[in-house]
Amino acid sequence: MDCCGGGNVLLYSCSGAADVGCIADRVTRILSKEKVGRMTCLAGVGARLSGFIASAQGADRNIVIDGCPVACAQKGLEAIGVTPEVYNLSNYGCQKGSTPVNDELVEEIALRIKNDIVNYKPVGVVISEGSEGCSCGGNC
Ligand code: SF4
Repeated sequence: MDCCGGGNVLLYSCSGAADVGCIADRVTRILSKEKVGRMTCLAGVGARLSGFIASAQGADRNIVIDGCPVACAQKGLEAIGVTPEVYNLSNYGCQKGSTPVNDELVEEIALRIKNDIVNYKPVGVVISEGSEGCSCGGNC
């Protein structure tokens, strides 16, 4: 990926059965298609498959999109000792069981999360003047 410092950025979706799980999955696919990062399989992490664990441990950023506060993707990564960067749809106005899935909502949330990912600053990291934001101008 060429955005936001580059590096190996992995995207995980909870991809749950609920409406918000579906939205999380679709949003993550959009982000992957737009090369914000590369979508990979949370199920592989959940199954403790060595290749998925090694990939997560070796990534520069592990980004999870969870559908609800149960936070399955976040907890799945944490269970293998990886602290992910978390985007939970409950913080984007989605409520499990009462959020109709439609293209407009999926695209709106994908854009909001993309902006948040681009502007993400790790806690404790001081950003020097002139290096704020992403040089891609939000088009990465
Ligand atoms: S985070 Fe919520 S929506 Fe996603 S898989 Fe877990 S329980 Fe289902």
